[in-house]
Amino acid sequence: MKPEADKHFVVLGGGIAGVEAAIKLREKGYRVTLVSNRDYFFVYPISIWIPVKGISFDDSSVKLDKLQKKHGFGLIIDSVVHIDPKNNRVQLQNSEITYDYLFIALGMHKVKAKGIENTLSICGAPEQALDIKDELEKLVQRGSGKIAIGFGGNPKDPKGTVVRGGPAFELLFNISTYLKKKGLLDSFELNFFAPMAEPGKKMGTKAYGNLSKFFKRYKVNQHVGKKILGFNQGEILFEGDKKLESDLIIFIAGGSGHSVLQNADLPLTESGFVKTHPTCQVEGYENIYAIGDSADMIGPKWAAKQGHMAEIMADVAAYNVHQQILGTGKSKTYTDKISIICVMDSGDGAAYVSRTNKKETMIMLPIVGHWLKKAWGFYFKKSKLKLIPRIPGM
Ligand SMILES: Cc1cc2nc3c(=O)[nH]c(=O)nc-3n(C[C@H](O)[C@H](O)[C@H](O)COP(=O)(O)OP(=O)(O)OC[C@H]3O[C@@H](n4cnc5c(N)ncnc54)[C@H](O)[C@@H]3O)c2cc1C
Repeated sequence: MKPEADKHFVVLGGGIAGVEAAIKLREKGYRVTLVSNRDYFFVYPISIWIPVKGISFDDSSVKLDKLQKKHGFGLIIDSVVHIDPKNNRVQLQNSEITYDYLFIALGMHKVKAKGIENTLSICGAPEQALDIKDELEKLVQRGSGKIAIGFGGNPKDPKGTVVRGGPAFELLFNISTYLKKKGLLDSFELNFFAPMAEPGKKMGTKAYGNLSKFFKRYKVNQHVGKKILGFNQGEILFEGDKKLESDLIIFIAGGSGHSVLQNADLPLTESGFVKTHPTCQVEGYENIYAIGDSADMIGPKWAAKQGHMAEIMADVAAYNVHQQILGTGKSKTYTDKISIICVMDSGDGAAYVSRTNKKETMIMLPIVGHWLKKAWGFYFKKSKLKLIPRIPGM
């Protein structure tokens, strides 16, 4: 047994960050238990195709027990209800678990907008993707309708790292392509709404400059720059007594910290995200790391919480804790690797968008871009299951 193998790691969350951390920690020989309230790993980036029947729910996920068998970590399917960092203990709904080292990867929750129950979200509970599919299908059967998709921010997060706009654009353009294929696009009204004056600007000026071309091509009207006051059934309410009627409203609220974190004795930002050092170690706790959407993102103004950043954070945290245990004094940070990478899919192509401190790129990839993103989804799931080799950095 390696000297470090007796350390027990508990990873909270079986999403992109948690699964990657469990894999990396197992590779280093540690005893790892992953806790998730779902028995499957949901690959959010490819779930945008569920509503337009481009992928099934099952194909958007990987059963966690399959990953457990491949990588040899322990698995508990249960809900985390309380984290007690002073006593190295986590209370689950049905049991409790203790740890030597804790990785927090619970994802995030959303700001509660007034009347949110009148909307659906592609970024909420995975099952909502199926609800969107059903509602869309009802409108398709009717032969006409109004669909509005939008996103909001969190006023307590001035950095805007918790705005999730990409999936809203992708879903809108995919729905447009879907309706076009059915010969129904002209009978539908597609609307995009957001309170920011320049939604999508985080992707960079190149990508933002091209967004209006997308809106035109996919016949989407824009309603931006007006504060969203709330939702009624079939309508979005904006400041200044403005309303937008819609048969189907899909709204991605701004992110806020996971509710479990609020009562844990952990350092949090005003918006509820765990404060860490650039090494992912939680401020004030040597044996706790926070990664992925649960963690406050330290970085430039344009930084955004994304899946590839969640993986980088998992890798950085696993490396750092290993060095800490070995006592080498070495460490890595995720902050020097911050980027936006997005293959913005439209169902009939995609745009490759990337942004780093040094460079902004946008490459239009008609037709092939869509299949590249599909291929990435296949690669992502199969490589996690070790059925195909992992390409470094992907
Ligand atoms: C529709 C959509 C499309 C996206 N597209 C892209 C993209 O193209 N590219 C990109 O880079 N990023 C994309 N993202 C962002 C990316 O998916 C997230 O940044 C990423 O999933 C964050 O990983 P995470 O592990 O931190 O959180 P999550 O993936 O949300 O995982 C959180 C995990 O915690 C578990 N959990 C939550 N609460 C509890 C609890 N109380 N007890 C136990 N377990 C719990 C959940 O079941 C889940 O397993 C997209 C996101 C969405 C929603």
